[in-house]
Amino acid sequence: MPLSVKKPIYSLPAYSLTGDLLSFLRCGLQYRYQRLGSLPSSRPVQLWFGEFIHGVMEEAFLRYRDQVAAGQPPAWPWPKATVEAICDLVKTRLKARGLEAWAPNIRQLGYERAEAAVQDLGPHLFPIVAEAEVRLTGSRPIPAIPTALQFRRADRYEMVGVVDVVTNVKLVDPTVATNPIVKLIQASLPAGLPAEFEVIVDYKGVRRPPANSPRSKLWQQYAWQIQTYASLRAAQPGSKPVVAGALLYVNEIRPTRTDCYLLRREVRSNQTDVVPVPGGEDDLELRRRWSKGQAPQFSHEFRLARALRVVHVDPPAVATAQVAFDGVVRDIETCRGTEAHGATILASWNCNSTEQATCVVCDQRTYCPGYKSTYAAQFGSVPTLPTR
Ligand code: SF4
Repeated sequence: MPLSVKKPIYSLPAYSLTGDLLSFLRCGLQYRYQRLGSLPSSRPVQLWFGEFIHGVMEEAFLRYRDQVAAGQPPAWPWPKATVEAICDLVKTRLKARGLEAWAPNIRQLGYERAEAAVQDLGPHLFPIVAEAEVRLTGSRPIPAIPTALQFRRADRYEMVGVVDVVTNVKLVDPTVATNPIVKLIQASLPAGLPAEFEVIVDYKGVRRPPANSPRSKLWQQYAWQIQTYASLRAAQPGSKPVVAGALLYVNEIRPTRTDCYLLRREVRSNQTDVVPVPGGEDDLELRRRWSKGQAPQFSHEFRLARALRVVHVDPPAVATAQVAFDGVVRDIETCRGTEAHGATILASWNCNSTEQATCVVCDQRTYCPGYKSTYAAQFGSVPTLPTR
């Protein structure tokens, strides 16, 4: 009797938009160690901030929703003790996953930012939320890599992501007309919006990146993420037209003195798109605090304008983003293939040392060739791995 031959294993590689593609773009070598190699970071500043802010905003929304459903919508601002209890809960959850703020001042800043985000964004954002934590998935043809580097059988890859919030905006709703977030979104979009539409919202536990930086590509990469989310969301049954994505840069709600320094620098070099009105109160505050090295107290309007970035969703931009992310998948597959065929990790994976904030908390910097070449002059001699 002829025995059938077992077919080779077919795998559909899954790539998360934030966990894989944006992480790889941030730095391929760091992605290799921390994401693929599961090497925990000793100072997971960005990871802890991001997860903490996401967790607090989600928990706060769930409590808001439950109270509205019970016919008792909460009054704003919420008691400080309520927000602190949410922060404590999320901190404990993260600790159970092995994720902790690595210094008391980092934890304190996280609490202050989370409270500012709930109190300043919650009253405007929560009433227009239709769904939170929406899982998105789709598949695309996997880009070809050189034959000599191939290491698995796959003709497609799965793209996955989680949208923090999907808002359902009905322009005829009178409560929406005065909503400052909706007004900022409307002002950023072309005329002729549908009567009912969706905006996907993504929280970012970072400051607003410069829009015209010669070094940083974060501005463009976040826009690609939104366009891709929008295309995946539009393919889900029951979704409404997705006209835009809103990125909420939560650090702008409660800026530090370092943010003040960076904003001042970006304003002077015309790298940022939201600047204080010259001679206005926020402009004076920026000059005052910057010269004293203090955290600024900007107006609510200015902080909200800095925190909110609206990305208009349209088919050409979606196509551009998909091509760009296909290219990232090809680059990751190429690095994996290079390593799978025997090259060392350092030789297989590209490093990207253009974001100094990422490098200074990276555990790989003691032997990273990119860090060494970019910052050695700035920080003196950088230790390297022994060569034998
Ligand atoms: S030090 Fe910078 S360039 Fe090097 S691996 Fe870390 S993040 Fe990447």
